[in-house]
Amino acid sequence: MPTLREKTILVTGGAGFIGSHLCQELLRERGNKVICLDNFFTGSKDNIKDLLENPDFKLIEHDVTKPISLENIDQIYHLACPASPVHYQHNPIETVRTNVIGTLNMLDLAKKTGARILQASTSEIYGDPLEHPQSESYLGNVNPVGIRACYDEGKRCAETLCADYRRQRKVDIRIVRIFNTYGPNMHPNDGRVVSNFIVQALKQEPITIYGDGSQTRAFQYIDDLIGGLIKMMENNSRFWGPVNLGNPKEFTVKELAEKILELIPESKSNIIYRDLPSDDPKKRKPDISLAKEKLDWEPKISLEDGLVKTIEYFKKVI
Ligand code: NAD
Ligand code: UDP
Repeated sequence: MPTLREKTILVTGGAGFIGSHLCQELLRERGNKVICLDNFFTGSKDNIKDLLENPDFKLIEHDVTKPISLENIDQIYHLACPASPVHYQHNPIETVRTNVIGTLNMLDLAKKTGARILQASTSEIYGDPLEHPQSESYLGNVNPVGIRACYDEGKRCAETLCADYRRQRKVDIRIVRIFNTYGPNMHPNDGRVVSNFIVQALKQEPITIYGDGSQTRAFQYIDDLIGGLIKMMENNSRFWGPVNLGNPKEFTVKELAEKILELIPESKSNIIYRDLPSDDPKKRKPDISLAKEKLDWEPKISLEDGLVKTIEYFKKVI
């Protein structure tokens, strides 16, 4: 990968799962100066411990819902927001505040500094989709008063803010819609399906399938996503998105459980069934034609290869 001109890059949510991989890539592999801003709600210093000694890395403990003044920033990757249903439903009002006020603050910072800002949006903005696979032109099916709305509607409003800051205040924005992503540095207890199943299998605990396991998701390995995020940020055309970033290979949740058990043959865990949470999307799979066309991007890592790396990680940390 060619080294890009050294830039000063702010990563909000930089101590989280995706943010820590992004900080690492931007700093170590691409020689930028990186400022990681995080309030450690779901992130952890462990995720960035190897970066803390680097003179080109700076950590700011701060909540994005409070304004912040920084200078000489070239790019902002705005990731700060809890991503797992368990965490974003823990304090839903705070989740809305983080998405709306937090994004307003980061857009104001982008306006003041002239930085380009990339908004980490989500496939959740499609809700429980009535179109399959989901392309960017699909406008979604979200229950505005359900338990997932704090996240879904919060992220939809954040996209609206980005589009309006672009039109009204000429801020240079990029929007990516991230589909289910997994890999090392996920929090072992954050409740997402890949981390839950691997941790349960390694601890010889029952694998908890919610519902009958026929709901589908398409799982993207973290390295593929990081490549896509940077391509979208570095794209200097007029294309600002929104663009889907995800792996289009679709699996049922039951298939995922079986695959993980296959990859951990020493596990004696059995599968148990629990109630499906309300508004849980029945299917999800990205149409990535736009990312292929505009960014020449598509994921390369198979579910099996990605799971093997993720299982190795969890064996070390739990
Ligand atoms: P994560 O929970 O591991 O990371 C989120 C980070 O943001 C954490 O470090 C947390 O401490 C920080 N944070 C939360 N609220 C904050 C606040 N108010 N101020 C400052 N920092 C705050 O989640 P992740 O999986 O790394 O997700 C990162 C981003 O990507 C999120 O915006 C999420 O919505 C988006 N996303 C993730 C996925 C996925 O599958 N992982 C899918 C779609 C979208
Ligand atoms: N899920 C499950 N067991 C778990 C955790 C999640 O069956 O222990 C299901 C969940 O109901 C959903 C899917 O797996 O249908 C993906 O859940 P996750 O929380 O990872 O992400 P999201 O629902 O946001 O896609």
